[in-house]
Amino acid sequence: MRVPMTVGDFLRRGALVYPKRVAVIDEPGAAGSLGAISYGEMEARARGMALALDAMGVAPGERVAIVSPNAARFLIAFYGVSAYGRVLVPINYRLNAEEIAYIVEHSGSRVLLVDPESDAPLQRVIAEHRVVLDGVADAELFAPAPPAAQPEPWTPDEDATASINYTSGTTARPKGVQLTHRNCWVNAAVLGWHVAVSDRDVYLHTLPMFHCNGWGMPYAVTALGCAQVVVRKIDGEEILRRIERHGVTLLSAAPAVVAAILDAGAARAARGEPVPGHGRVRMVVAGAPPPSKTIERVEVDLGWELIQIYGLTETSPLLTVNRARSEWDGSTPGERARLLSRAGVPALGVDVAVAGDGEILTRTNHVFAGYWAQPEESAAALAGGWFHTGDEGHIDDDGYLVIADRKKDVIISGGENISSVEVEDCLYQHPAVAEVAVVGVPDPKWGETVKALVVLRPGTEASEADLIEFCREHLAHFKCPTSVEMRAGLPRTATGKLQKFKLRAPYWEGYDRMVH
Ligand code: AMP
Repeated sequence: MRVPMTVGDFLRRGALVYPKRVAVIDEPGAAGSLGAISYGEMEARARGMALALDAMGVAPGERVAIVSPNAARFLIAFYGVSAYGRVLVPINYRLNAEEIAYIVEHSGSRVLLVDPESDAPLQRVIAEHRVVLDGVADAELFAPAPPAAQPEPWTPDEDATASINYTSGTTARPKGVQLTHRNCWVNAAVLGWHVAVSDRDVYLHTLPMFHCNGWGMPYAVTALGCAQVVVRKIDGEEILRRIERHGVTLLSAAPAVVAAILDAGAARAARGEPVPGHGRVRMVVAGAPPPSKTIERVEVDLGWELIQIYGLTETSPLLTVNRARSEWDGSTPGERARLLSRAGVPALGVDVAVAGDGEILTRTNHVFAGYWAQPEESAAALAGGWFHTGDEGHIDDDGYLVIADRKKDVIISGGENISSVEVEDCLYQHPAVAEVAVVGVPDPKWGETVKALVVLRPGTEASEADLIEFCREHLAHFKCPTSVEMRAGLPRTATGKLQKFKLRAPYWEGYDRMVH
């Protein structure tokens, strides 16, 4: 028997087995906050959303975009949209209006859901149906459906696209990663299994839901009826307070968030206050390699378990997992941290290989269907039956993958991808810029930060501050250079190609890998 795997399965199970349990504790005080809702209510609201989309005439396969920080409505949309055959397009709410307009248009989204805080800045971003998530304009869209009300039937298809997640890569414009129901389903099940999610877990949504569907964890914890606590804004002390108040056992985060939590923990310790979660909390970390000192502090200072995973939006994302194994039980905290600082071993059902040039390749059911409307880019990424990650590394003798560098021109700052090509494109529009190379350099807070190396046109003038300000006018702020250095020239190959590795090298001296 073959029963199609669709993301609707996760909420169906959560609501069937745990209808009365608290499903989501929404951000208190946020406009349109739903407060605490049960799994039964979550299912009714998701079904209500599908009914409302039926009424709007949005057909299966059509796209519904959402621009929102973490919120209960976002979680409901994972099912209200995808479980009934439509395609969710989660968009990074930190992008600027022009960038978001591009994604809405490129994905052909007929519906655009906008958080109230983004409403004014995105006034000019439109779609056929534009709905503000303020609890009033969207009241009908998220109204719980009566038990008997059934949306238009959709023939479940595990190979249908569940979401299109735009990601910044090696091109100036972001690409739409099409994740199928099968991709999301297998990723969530394998992730949930390696992290050992149980129905006793309480999950804190520190990871942005837009980022690869919160890495698939929202699906996994929903199926097991876990309470899910929403956090809208990242603040170390607030995270600790919620962990304390709600008995949180599990969270996921990029290394920059881990650093914020460690700072808040240290401040508490200095005030003589307890740090919650000792011996109870597991934190899944990915997006960039966490420094081994950070890992050690999580285990020693907080008493939490750190599980590292590695992957990409294109792989749903889970590829490898590094969780302390019993063989390491007798190791010192420093040694364990060193072992845990590697990306890990392949998750169940994942093949990982390192090509001759060091690029990491993979084959797994989590690999995406292709980039939306970009067949050539898709073919290149999937050439030879392997997905080409653009990351470089090696496999240690004990089988653990180490990510040492990036082949692709991508900078990862605070866990979010930045295309250096996009930043270069922006700077080239400045009249004083003759040549520019944008590189990632290590940064203690964000992991990496953007640096622009600029050659000015003869006879023109522009200061570092002018160029940064110019970028801030045109790009999302997290993508803008934090420093600019003026150069007399930039090294190029005989064919005129920029030699970025040469430009980056001096800033990475003393580091054992060129990613941070
Ligand atoms: P994204 O598609 O935005 O999730 O970014 C994926 C990229 O993040 C990968 O290609 C890696 O460069 C980087 N990345 C994710 N997890 C890790 C990790 N554990 N260690 C090193 N780099 C990572």
